[in-house]
Amino acid sequence: MENWDVIIIGAGSAGLSAGIYAIRSGLKTLILDEKLAGGTISDAPTVVNYPGFAEISGGELAEKMTTHCRKLGATIHDLEPVNELDLMGDTKTIKTTRASYEAKAVIFSTGSHYREIGAKGEKEFRGRGVSYCGVCDGPFFKGKRVLVVGGGNSAATTILYLSGIASEVVVVHRRNSFRAEHTMVAEIASKPNVKVLWNTEIQEIKGNKQVNAVTVIDNTTGQSRDLAVDAVFVQIGEAPNSQLAKASGVETDEHGYIKIDIRQHTNILGVYAAGDVTNHPVKQVGTAVGQGITAALEAYVHIRRPYYRK
Ligand code: NAP
Repeated sequence: MENWDVIIIGAGSAGLSAGIYAIRSGLKTLILDEKLAGGTISDAPTVVNYPGFAEISGGELAEKMTTHCRKLGATIHDLEPVNELDLMGDTKTIKTTRASYEAKAVIFSTGSHYREIGAKGEKEFRGRGVSYCGVCDGPFFKGKRVLVVGGGNSAATTILYLSGIASEVVVVHRRNSFRAEHTMVAEIASKPNVKVLWNTEIQEIKGNKQVNAVTVIDNTTGQSRDLAVDAVFVQIGEAPNSQLAKASGVETDEHGYIKIDIRQHTNILGVYAAGDVTNHPVKQVGTAVGQGITAALEAYVHIRRPYYRK
């Protein structure tokens, strides 16, 4: 059994920021991630609103955060999923696919996963034309006609990224206006190869080996029709990766987000949460970073300065 001061579950923006502050506070810090370190920001084509970086690819920003964290001395175990947790006592136990660990504090920064539209054919063609990540799969569709579903910031960044790769980007949005940031909406309007279908939803994704068409329905008239497309990028938001936390007694809200107070405390003493897995209303890299920092400093107070706790 390995002993650590703090174990951070999830090596995205929140977890890596927590790692930087935990290690600089002198805490023996282990970060576990079931995937490669970096988190979902790695999938963002460009990040244009993280202070200090006027424009940077999500992959590069994630790489910079991971390197920074490792350089300071945090131990990061990639590709090591957590299977089981016991969080109730003063000593927390964490079992992974590789080992068992003990820690005085645990921070959940497990992020979120892509939401599915639930259309017929979506699961069947996943990886064969259905994608949830423009930057990962967009280059496979150079010069092709692609479709993006959604109207938020994720959809907008993907639309703009794909407009530079695909011959045409068809956007399907269920309402008649985007909820994405104003600047991105204006940029989308200026792209000649982007065509937006308002009040439209996908009924079915079709193909043979690969996607070759979708059936869309106009939700104001009820009329449906087929469109020939080579790929469908689903960008309708995310859902929290909180199942493990919930199963270990951490309270979540009605949507599954971990409930936190202003100092990132969960309902369990010594257990904190940060980033997209929490019920914080803003889901941005900047807010995830701030939440991670707060969680690490609160873990420090819990472990080293318990008499400060109010
Ligand atoms: P989001 O803001 O929740 O937008 C989801 C979009 O998908 C909405 O337009 C929604 O339509 C649509 N949608 C939801 N369920 C659907 C369904 N079943 N079928 C069809 N359409 C559906 O999610 P997001 O764009 O992933 O953004 C999540 C958070 O990350 C936000 O806080 C966002 O600001 C942030 N983010 C920021 C950036 C950035 O560059 N600043 C980039 C990516 C994400 P309605 O509009 O009708 O609800």
